[in-house]
Amino acid sequence: MSCIFCKIVNNEIPSSKVYEDDRVLAFRDAAPIAPTHILFVPKRHMASMAEITPGDAELIGHIFAKIADAAREEGCSDSGYRVASNCGADACQTVGHLHFHLIGGRKLTPHAG
Ligand code: 5GP
Ligand code: ZN
Repeated sequence: MSCIFCKIVNNEIPSSKVYEDDRVLAFRDAAPIAPTHILFVPKRHMASMAEITPGDAELIGHIFAKIADAAREEGCSDSGYRVASNCGADACQTVGHLHFHLIGGRKLTPHAG
């Protein structure tokens, strides 16, 4: 498996971990664009949001609950934050393992174009 996020999940590549359980790993983005920039990934390889099915509803809900927890712990829950997931070429997805960016800690621009 050449997927870099699978390698991070398997501790083959080091990362700055923020949260981990049996289903999800959160780690700091290597090239942060804001004071808080954390990536949340399912441990099970899924290429992108395009592969999410109704059977993944509980997993995705769990990830979003952990994102909200992390935002509180990072101190940006009240000030605001953005959650983004780039899906496919037009969205400039660069890593083909589903991930959600938690971005906050500064005033963000209104639209990600
Ligand atoms: P995408 O462009 O696919 O939405 O986001 C991929 C993100 O993964 C980028 O923000 C990039 O900085 C981050 N990234 C790529 N490789 C690594 C890595 O090896 N470690 C960490 N921590 N982040 C990475
Ligand atoms: Zn993967």
